[in-house]
This record gives sequence, C-alpha cells and structure tokens, in this order.
Amino acid sequence: MRGTVLYAPGDVRFEERDDPKILKPTDAIIRIAATCVCGSDLWPYRGANPVTQPTPMGHEYCGMVEQVGSAVGSVKPGQFVIGSFFASDNTCPNCRAGYQSGCQHAEFVGGAQAPILRVPLADGTLVTTPDAPPDDLIPNLLALSDVMGTGWFAAEAANVKPGRTVAVVGDGAVGLLGILSAKLMGAERIIAMSRHESRQKLAREFGATDIVTERGDEGVARIKELTGGIGADSVLECVGTQESMLQAIRSTRQGGYVGYVGVPHGVELDGQQLFYAHVHLHGGPAPVRRFLPELIELVFNRTINPGKVFDLTLPLDRVAEGYRAMDERRAIKTLLRP
Ligand SMILES: [Zn+2]
Repeated sequence: MRGTVLYAPGDVRFEERDDPKILKPTDAIIRIAATCVCGSDLWPYRGANPVTQPTPMGHEYCGMVEQVGSAVGSVKPGQFVIGSFFASDNTCPNCRAGYQSGCQHAEFVGGAQAPILRVPLADGTLVTTPDAPPDDLIPNLLALSDVMGTGWFAAEAANVKPGRTVAVVGDGAVGLLGILSAKLMGAERIIAMSRHESRQKLAREFGATDIVTERGDEGVARIKELTGGIGADSVLECVGTQESMLQAIRSTRQGGYVGYVGVPHGVELDGQQLFYAHVHLHGGPAPVRRFLPELIELVFNRTINPGKVFDLTLPLDRVAEGYRAMDERRAIKTLLRP
C-alpha cells in the first residue's frame, strides 16, 4: 500500500510502505473509510517537534474491520469501527476510572493516513457502530476519533453545566467542537475567542453566543467585561501555548474550572500566580474511548454534525496539500479519502 510519511518539517510524502499485519493476537486490521490531518500533526510539520526519522503519520480513523488476531472477541471482520488515537485495554484500573488515554498498556496508534491500519488492543480500543453507516455520516464518525472526543473532554474537564458561562480559547477543530460540546451540556453563554471569520461563523453555528477577537491581556479584559468583571465559570484551553494557557487561567472566575487539551509547547506555570488564581485545572490527552458509545449514538440519531469542521476533502494521495492548507490556515481541517 501507499501511506503518509513525514521526513522533515514541511516534507510530507505519500509513498510505498509495507501493508500492516497482525503482530499480536490482540490486534485488528482495519480498512480506512476516511482519515484526516490533525492540528497536532502540524507541530512536527512546522518543526516545533523534532522529526528524527521518517515517521508514518495519522492517528484519526474509522473503517471496516478486515482481520482480527486470535485473541480478539468483541469485534469481527465486516463491522464498522471507530477508535481513539490511544489504544487501551479498557480493563485496567485507569481505564475503569475512565482514563483510557492513561491506560497501563496504552499504545499510540500511528500511521492512519493510509488505506490500511493496524490497531492494537482491538477489544478495548474499537467501538462498533449500530449499522454500516451511510456515506454522509462518515465525516461525523471520523471526527469522534479525536477532535470531537477531545472537545467533549475539554468541556467535561471544565465542569460545564446547564446555565454556565463558558469561554473557549482556540478556534481550531477542537475549540470549535468544544463549543458544540458546551452547548450540548447546557451552557447558557459561550464566548468563542477567534479572529477568523469562517471559524467565527462555524462557532456561532455550534452554539457560541459571543465572539472575542482580542488576545492576551486585552482578551482577558474582554472576557471580564462580558462576565460582570469576574470571569467565566468554565474555560476550555484548546491550543497549548504559554499565551493560551495563561489566557485561559486568567479568564476563569475564582473557583472556576479550566479544561486544557491543547498539547503543551513551552507552557510553564508560576506557582504563586496559580495559588492566587483559585481555579481548578484538569486536562491532558482526552480519554476519547470513554465518550465513543455516547457520541456514536448522537451522530447516528443525527443530533450532532461534528464533521462540519472538515472544510477541505482530498483524495488520500494529495495528503501533502492537506497539510499545506492547514498550515497556511486555508483549511480548518482536511478530510482524506483513500
Ligand atoms: Zn487500561
């Protein structure tokens, strides 16, 4: 098969690779229906993470099971499945506590920007859909593999409840789906921080009631202004920079909650500042597996359309253009079809 490999910053190739095979009896092989480029793929693409060797890319996937190892019991060939970017056994104490992304046996699932993918710990990782999905649901189901589950976790970690005021830092796919999640959880007021018109439009469609275009000190001041001087009850941090993390903490009211899901790059927190902020901080790599059954149902009964974040669809062999479009912010998120 041909698959996506990152050689160096800016150098994405679609090239011949070995077909994935069952390596352990707990593996499954799936034929990808759709995959995509993640905001986090842009970190190495832009050189913010070192690329030490040619790296197969992609960790978001859904598709049909082709083959399972001898120890796999809960999924079988022919079923349509979705999984998270972390494979998990779903049985260890961390998994049972709902933190499958911190599974004692967690393995990163890589190489999904390809037609065929090996998924470890298939029984714990993969969740089947009720039926083979109609084609128009595929983008919505693919979004559950990472960005929707991550936005949902951000909202949950930020303790979003009915009637609350929520601010969302970051207008990428995760931030936008954090808005959708906050709306579903009953937030009354949702303030999206965004400077881009097309993203503001989608933010409003997903449930944002206010848009703040300022950043840094001015952004914090605007949130305070909109919340009677106290800050938001819940703030979702969906970027991962020092500026965005501080903006999130400083936009939160005393006693409020920050849910942070942006992969940190250079974030350092000052103990004293944290001490006097009086905020709850919870975040990390989202335990997407926990939310999959519920989110699959919401997609199947057509309550949510998280696939709207895909504003560019390309054939898989044009993956390099998909990276470029996202890097240049011409696209929010690129969907790739084999
Ligand atoms: Zn586990």
